[in-house]
Amino acid sequence: MRNNMETTIKKMKSGSIIGQIALFVLSLCGSAIVVAMVIVALTAVSMNSRFSEAFFTTNKTVERIKADIENGKDYNKVLELIQIEEKRPLAISIANKKDNVIAHYGEAANLKTAKIFNYDEEPFVQISLESVPDDSDLEENEIRINMPNMVREFYESTRGLNENATQVFQDELFTYNYWIKSPINDDYTAYTKNELVIYGKDCAIAIAIAAILGVVFVISSFAGLFRTIGNIISQRYYLRLLLSDPITGGNNEFAFEQNAFKNITHIIYKKSGFAIVDLSLEKYQNYCTLYGVDEGEKLLKGIESILKSNLHSGETVSRVSGGNYLLLLRTDKISIDEKGLAGRAKAIVDSLPEKLAAIDKDNSSLSGLGNIHLKAGMYYIPPVINEDAKKRRDKKTLSIKNLCIKAGMAKGAITEDSGFMVYNHDMWEKEIWESKVEDMMEEALINEEFQVYIQPKYHPATEELLGGEALVRWISPTEGFISPGQFIPIFERTGFVTKLDDYMIAHTAKLQSEWLAAGKEIVPISVNVSRAHFAKPDLAEHIRDLVAQYPLPNKYIEIELTESAFFDDKNALLTTVHKLQEYGFEVSMDDFGSGYSSLNSLKDLPLNVLKLDAEFFRGEDFGGRGEIVVSEAISLAKKLDMRIVAEGVEKKEQVDFLAGQNCDMIQGYYFAKPMPANEYEERMK
Ligand code: C2E
Ligand code: CA
Ligand code: CA
Repeated sequence: MRNNMETTIKKMKSGSIIGQIALFVLSLCGSAIVVAMVIVALTAVSMNSRFSEAFFTTNKTVERIKADIENGKDYNKVLELIQIEEKRPLAISIANKKDNVIAHYGEAANLKTAKIFNYDEEPFVQISLESVPDDSDLEENEIRINMPNMVREFYESTRGLNENATQVFQDELFTYNYWIKSPINDDYTAYTKNELVIYGKDCAIAIAIAAILGVVFVISSFAGLFRTIGNIISQRYYLRLLLSDPITGGNNEFAFEQNAFKNITHIIYKKSGFAIVDLSLEKYQNYCTLYGVDEGEKLLKGIESILKSNLHSGETVSRVSGGNYLLLLRTDKISIDEKGLAGRAKAIVDSLPEKLAAIDKDNSSLSGLGNIHLKAGMYYIPPVINEDAKKRRDKKTLSIKNLCIKAGMAKGAITEDSGFMVYNHDMWEKEIWESKVEDMMEEALINEEFQVYIQPKYHPATEELLGGEALVRWISPTEGFISPGQFIPIFERTGFVTKLDDYMIAHTAKLQSEWLAAGKEIVPISVNVSRAHFAKPDLAEHIRDLVAQYPLPNKYIEIELTESAFFDDKNALLTTVHKLQEYGFEVSMDDFGSGYSSLNSLKDLPLNVLKLDAEFFRGEDFGGRGEIVVSEAISLAKKLDMRIVAEGVEKKEQVDFLAGQNCDMIQGYYFAKPMPANEYEERMK
């Protein structure tokens, strides 16, 4: 989704008005060239057709002379006859073998200076757009006409257009005289004079057509230009909307990513250290509930304007959601550590409540700001002073999102209601560890690196073994012994925990079935099923099938649900619990009393076992109120027909107390720590 957004933003930013104008000018030039070429082409076509006509007539005349002479007529006589005909060349000269003109009508051909074409090589017109002074590069039968001159003459001739309109169009603009040389027979050659005339009207037609074309081009180019510029302007408008926060009117999250990226990678800030600060106004929702949404939004705007007023060049701020803000701060101190910026960031955050109260003195709701909780986490990006820092700020790999996550991690590490924290090495190590675990887990499951440890459960008075809990231990060939606290949260986040649960259920069932077959007096062993697993609608069938792989009655496997699972879909949970019990499994509620009240769940769910959370037995002074709560919990469980297990019991007096309260089982270090299966085996009868 975010990647889509980035490409959309990139696309929207890509249109440039200057680029469009350049394109427009270019297309105008292109149009002008097309128009000029149209004029040239039209003129050239009409000129060339006139040449063809002239050659055709001339050939006819020469054929006629030839025939007359062959019929014995005198060539002077023939010329006289031709002269009075209607369609005839301007002049004809007849030359003998030595190329001396021996007869002619009209002008006698000057064979030294005249432009002569052979009858079989019709000339062709080259129309030139530039003024070419000499014709040296012309081919034998080429004629070059200079278009600009012609147009200029035409233009000049049209000055008097009003007085003498028709005349101008009839006027000759250009005349070109040439002779065509045609052999009559072996003794005589005919030279016929022709002229190519270009009239005003020839130019006018070409120019008119070209002008229409030109107007069409210009109009469509302008229309295109306006449309594109209009599009760019509206895109800019939408881009602004896309990047702005509807509440504060400032930048939003996407804008932050863009701006931060631009600044951090900007060449002029190479020597600057940057900090990303993830700031949140805790319990913003509560504030809105108390004072109303309008006041809430006013508060958000106030915070943003104060943050903004603290910014220097190369810095930026955005509200990203609710009461969460991201800040990019910068320092010119060439320092590899974050002290300077951390001090400044902390000061900005610390000053917020006071400044907020100052901008809105009369507002009663803001006077409650003393109770406002602000948490801020910071991630420092050192200046480009070594290879490592350079790599971190490389345009290709820099991810603002990741930096924000790190600032967020620092914020998440704050345990108090308010505070300021800089991302540190421990967080970094945690991150490394998490990715390591994610890389290793699948393989570890295949390689059976997970081992089932069992913690026995004893009767507090008789000290008889009544059950056990299967607890996972990871014995990694590279990392050594890993306790569940180090990987279960990661498995839960990635969803891998369901695979581990399956593994533990199957392995526990296997162990139990082997002990049973060996004639041991086995007792139920409970297995933890994590909350994530309850999304599966067929969880009960799934567990049944896992256990059914081994010859073991289901009553020897107990399923532990954690209290938090009871907050999800209650009906689905109820169905699953019923089904599990139907299949013969016992179901227990783990960690009872650790989270929010689960008394309600006890009402609805007919569970078999209640496991009192270890927290009840922590601390030096168990007794007094603690004892009252525990004893009431036990009697509640009894009344609901549930057995009760006390977890985390380490002290003799606690065991004695629980024995006195008729607690069914104790699972704690007092009796035994979780142990490998073979050690547990020895404790069975
Ligand atoms: P839990 O299910 O509440 O397990 C009881 C934890 O309390 C175990 O920690 C056990 O070693 C510890 N414990 C028992 N008695 C005492 C005592 O007297 N004093 C102290 N200080 N601790 C005691 P462990 O084995 O480290 O497991 C921690 C948690 O990890 C478990 O809490 C459970 O939530 C999770 N976990 C362990 N194994 C599995 C598993 O196979 N699957 C799942 N989903 N979660 C597991
Ligand atoms: Ca448990
Ligand atoms: Ca527990």
